[in-house]
Amino acid sequence: MSWEGHRDGQLTVGGVPAGTLAARVGSTPFFAYDRDLVTRRVALLRTVLPAEVELNYAVKANPMPALLQHLSGLVDGFDVASAGELKHALDTPVPPARIGFAGPGKTVGELTQAVAAGVTVELESETELARVRAIGAELGIPARIAIRVNPDFTVRGSGMRLGGGPQQFGIDAERVPQVLARLGDDVDFQGFHVFAGSQNLRADHICEAQRHTVDLVLGLAEVSPPIRYLNLGGGFGIPYSRRDQPLDLAPIGDNLARLLRERVTPRLPEARVVVELGRYLVGEAGVYVTRVVDRKESRGTTFVVVDGGMHHQLAASGNLGQVIRRNYPMAVADGVGRPVDPPVTVVGRLCTPLDLLGDRVELPRVDVGDLVVVFQAGAYGLTASPTGFLSHPAPVEILV
Ligand SMILES: *Cc1c(COP(=O)(O)O)cnc(C)c1O
Repeated sequence: MSWEGHRDGQLTVGGVPAGTLAARVGSTPFFAYDRDLVTRRVALLRTVLPAEVELNYAVKANPMPALLQHLSGLVDGFDVASAGELKHALDTPVPPARIGFAGPGKTVGELTQAVAAGVTVELESETELARVRAIGAELGIPARIAIRVNPDFTVRGSGMRLGGGPQQFGIDAERVPQVLARLGDDVDFQGFHVFAGSQNLRADHICEAQRHTVDLVLGLAEVSPPIRYLNLGGGFGIPYSRRDQPLDLAPIGDNLARLLRERVTPRLPEARVVVELGRYLVGEAGVYVTRVVDRKESRGTTFVVVDGGMHHQLAASGNLGQVIRRNYPMAVADGVGRPVDPPVTVVGRLCTPLDLLGDRVELPRVDVGDLVVVFQAGAYGLTASPTGFLSHPAPVEILV
């Protein structure tokens, strides 16, 4: 894991000892995101991906406004999935033309906001095309559009697989030519977007998906207006347990360089090629910091009860789509280098056995008042959790 920072036996976040950070925040639990780790992650991608590939951030992974401001100086654009995310994205210096709005079920209200803002609407259906046309006519602004394609292939190895079958996402690849035939001057057609899966740790599978995507789009190019935008998706995964091997970026960079050189640039010279990443940019840069409120024995198991839980960090409890529950990495804030105790089970404060943060984890001795830190909490954490459940206060989020 990339969270190896520590000083005098204390874990550090953004160089600050976790205990000091807790005092600064004034309450637990809280989420802390390390700005330097985000900066370094983007820099790493820039060294590996071909220079002409643009890097977008998928805002839904973590929409914290301060984090978006920080990222706005590092990435080329943002992908948003709601009017709320659109507002946050437009509040940053990123130009509207570098913002894409995808997601099924966009209402006329949301589409109106998007067309008025001048962002690229990534059409998920033919209904959406009819709506943006009417909105464009009404506002006197041709809608800037791209077609999200539901691909005719599946990506192996994705934690969440999209494409290959019926989908609420995108327009089926085989229907896209008919839709293209109906486009006119009343829309500003940019190109295509294919996003075929998430949380993939296999470079070979990601390369295969990128090759299939390029094949698909080059096929559509035969019957399409000039393509100025080609969003290849992303799906780069991060390790959540010791068994996960971190993604090997080098082959992905090589594959993209070859695809661009041999296929995309010769055929689609005007296309901006975009890779959009959420989790990979921010997931490892965040921690969820909780404080122990109770420690109890029950029939041979030691339970450590912390003041947070799955209402803030659902993913760590294993209830956000995992097939097999595995513990997220966690640590005791002042336990760096201390010997490990017999395993304990770390639970939250919700009245359900699902609120399990760590099942029989090996930690140093941990008592009431200690800070327990859950790693890999920077993406799909707070905003992907049922915060209203049990009406506990919302946690603070900070960028360090
Ligand atoms: C969620 C989403 C992403 C980001 O996925 P990650 O796995 O977090 O990188 C990218 N594109 C689209 C269209 C999405 O819906």
